[in-house]
Amino acid sequence: MSATAANTFDIVILGGGSGGYACALRAAELGLSVALVEKGKLGGTCLHQGCIPTKALLHAAEIADTAREGQQFGVKTTFESVDMSGVNAYKDGVVGRLYKGLQGLVKSKSIEYVEGAGRLVATNTIEVAGRKLVGKNIVLATGSYAKSLPGLDITGRIMTSEQALFLDFVPARVVVLGGGVIGVEFASVFKSFGSEVTIIEALPRLVAAEDEAISKQLERSFRKRKINFKTGVKFSGVTQTGDVVNVTLESGDTIEADLLLVAVGRGPVTAGLGYEEAGVTVDRGFVLANEHLQTNIEGIYAVGDIVPGLQLAHRGFAQGIFVAEQIAGLNPPVIDEMGIPRVTYCDPEIASIGYTEAQAKAKFGEIETYDYSLGGNGKSQILQTQGFIKLVRQKDGPVVGVHMIGARMGEQVGEAQLIYNWEALPSDVAQLIHAHPTQNEALGEAHLALAGKPLHAHG
Ligand SMILES: Cc1cc2nc3c(=O)[nH]c(=O)nc-3n(C[C@H](O)[C@H](O)[C@H](O)COP(=O)(O)OP(=O)(O)OC[C@H]3O[C@@H](n4cnc5c(N)ncnc54)[C@H](O)[C@@H]3O)c2cc1C
Repeated sequence: MSATAANTFDIVILGGGSGGYACALRAAELGLSVALVEKGKLGGTCLHQGCIPTKALLHAAEIADTAREGQQFGVKTTFESVDMSGVNAYKDGVVGRLYKGLQGLVKSKSIEYVEGAGRLVATNTIEVAGRKLVGKNIVLATGSYAKSLPGLDITGRIMTSEQALFLDFVPARVVVLGGGVIGVEFASVFKSFGSEVTIIEALPRLVAAEDEAISKQLERSFRKRKINFKTGVKFSGVTQTGDVVNVTLESGDTIEADLLLVAVGRGPVTAGLGYEEAGVTVDRGFVLANEHLQTNIEGIYAVGDIVPGLQLAHRGFAQGIFVAEQIAGLNPPVIDEMGIPRVTYCDPEIASIGYTEAQAKAKFGEIETYDYSLGGNGKSQILQTQGFIKLVRQKDGPVVGVHMIGARMGEQVGEAQLIYNWEALPSDVAQLIHAHPTQNEALGEAHLALAGKPLHAHG
């Protein structure tokens, strides 16, 4: 094979995270030649600094709470302490096994895996350490980084999720700056591990992207768990002396803590990578792409967190697969962003799909909603969890939003997404039989009630 042929591919993908590697795997399955360029670890943020390690921490947190709460179930347990070296060994073990599996998967397909930092040097070329990889198609998948605020340096006891994932101690007092998904998940972990936690959120409510009723219930639950939070309050500054941070708010309040976790969102990794020089339209760092994930330059696609929208791993997977199939000529159906399930894994868990009540009102005009309390659900009572399932439907039409909060509700999002994506009517779901006693049954009961034939529902 000539040097040119060895460096020419159907697709060259820049970034081996959720979006990039999913695209590579699907493209290889479809018989396309693929080069996948990754400067760090295959698997990207989700596997190494995101979804997987945080959910392992949240599981360890649940175990700590279970140990504390044994008495509630008549089981004599005592909670002693959290050993971070043990927690980290468990977490790293999970990540390590998945990493190994993923490396094997990529190796087993005929994917040219290129290690190193790449740059778009022409509309069809990525350069890595002097090697030019030419693609009939280019897929940009360089992901995102943890943002900070102007003048807020990430150093010492001021950290983002990236450093917080590798703590070797449990801080006694933590301030979490940001009450979005990452902020509330970490707040939940720290509280369960024994820290005193205060969340600072500039918006009027926690998890502000969720339905307002969900935020209210989360705030109620967090109050009960003695997780402090201040909403509608802006951060003004922080000083750090030794191992102590002093956080000042615009209200004039100050909070002393042993750690400040900055969780103010994630910005796209696109600067200095040649995108704009190649003519790719970028808006505030994000790569703009149409519903087929094509950028304004023919043959250049973008997937994952660099494309405006939900920054979720499964969105990246879906977009990567979509682009591979599109390039292979399969004409896949476009992805409905509202049809992507969203789960926040704090305690209690939040899971949702589709439109919030406010969004549905704005979009569809007349709507109906129904809140089914988990108080009427046997399994939720067994678990001693509180919460509800809120349904939003177009008046006399399909269900356009499902919003759930309570222990383990993330596991219910699978059926919720079928309901939303298949545009089911409440009566369609009401005729399906849900197993008793499961939490899944609560979804069935909510639809029974909205279809006008409630079973275990009050009012
Ligand atoms: C703390 C945390 C928790 C999260 N939890 C969840 C969750 O529970 N569920 C969920 O769905 N999502 C979660 N996410 C979000 C999820 O991790 C991202 O949406 C997902 O990783 C995005 O995939 P991506 O492929 O766009 O980018 P990334 O996963 O960031 O991958 C991009 C890759 O590109 C590489 N790269 C960048 N520049 C170059 C270059 N010049 N050359 C070569 N390689 C380059 C990077 O090294 C990286 O590996 C979480 C994120 C965080 C931070």
